[in-house]
Amino acid sequence: MTVLVIAEHDNASIKGATLNTVTAAAACGGDVHVLVAGHNAAGAAAAAAQIAGVAKVIHADAAGLAHGLAENVAAQVLAIAGNYSHILFPATAGGKNVAPRVAAKLDVAQISDITKVVSPDTFERPIYAGNAIATVQSQDATKVITVRTTGFDAAAASGGSAATETATATADAGKSSFVGSEIAKSDRPELTAAKIIVSGGRALGSKEKFDEVMTPLADKLGAAIGASRAAVDAGYAPNDLQVGQTGKIVAPQLYVAAGISGAIQHLAGMKDSKVIVAINKDAEAPIFSVADYGLEADLFTAVPELVKAL
Ligand SMILES: Cc1cc2nc3c(=O)[nH]c(=O)nc-3n(C[C@H](O)[C@H](O)[C@H](O)COP(=O)(O)OP(=O)(O)OC[C@H]3O[C@@H](n4cnc5c(N)ncnc54)[C@H](O)[C@@H]3O)c2cc1C
Repeated sequence: MTVLVIAEHDNASIKGATLNTVTAAAACGGDVHVLVAGHNAAGAAAAAAQIAGVAKVIHADAAGLAHGLAENVAAQVLAIAGNYSHILFPATAGGKNVAPRVAAKLDVAQISDITKVVSPDTFERPIYAGNAIATVQSQDATKVITVRTTGFDAAAASGGSAATETATATADAGKSSFVGSEIAKSDRPELTAAKIIVSGGRALGSKEKFDEVMTPLADKLGAAIGASRAAVDAGYAPNDLQVGQTGKIVAPQLYVAAGISGAIQHLAGMKDSKVIVAINKDAEAPIFSVADYGLEADLFTAVPELVKAL
């Protein structure tokens, strides 16, 4: 039994989500191989070979694989799929774009968003916005799986010494082409990889106030900034900062929620955080039910005071 992990990378380095997916792959049993499908991606392939627990890296390099276009990456995965019992993707935007294509072409049921490997054919996954855990068993010959990265520790990024094998790159599917990208640049840690996150909600009232109140706290703590959907929908914070069921799933060491009520769709994205601090002026706010530390206060006073005290 051999398990294939599809690496998330930027051609030069491996993204953190790949490390958690390797841990899930190791739990399935058997050897773990990692596919690096990219262009001029020798750097990413070398980094993948360093990951502890990886037996082999398969490197496919072609211009059509430069930007992770789903049609091309799926074709590349399918070209080698026959060698594997399990094919694992991180449940990121990239992984979720490719995995269903692979599952459909293999005529198997995708197993989505697993948080635990019970046995090689049985997995746990959250349902109903995380309010229940389903145990699913698959009898498909190839298990195509997306992995909720917060459910698994990251494998060590160094210490491994996997062999690297070059695979013939599949031809450009010609179904899509890369036009351009606008990537938000930030000195802050990436939301899904951050150890500390400070999140603001609708209570902030405007983009100006959101920035004025939340940014100093994030700066003091070296934290990433998150937001509730209400804050994002109102334009206080950009879309990629949304935490929750329809945003990002995070599990930092410390999550500070300011002016967020704690709707189940928000909790679905952050309730696995190690320590949760809630600041809310309503003692009945549901966020307090998951908080380790709750401060019933006006955030416009409490947050600046906290910044001063830090
Ligand atoms: C299908 C679906 C998917 C969704 N996905 C998401 C998701 O991914 N993420 C998400 O966040 N939501 C999501 N939602 C929306 C969710 O249901 C809530 O509407 C949203 O989370 C509310 O955001 P909020 O807590 O900022 O605002 P509110 O619920 O309006 O809460 C604001 C809170 O701030 C407090 N407050 C007000 N003024 C102050 C003050 N001065 N100081 C301190 N506290 C104050 C209030 O007491 C209140 O608790 C989804 C909803 C649906 C239906």
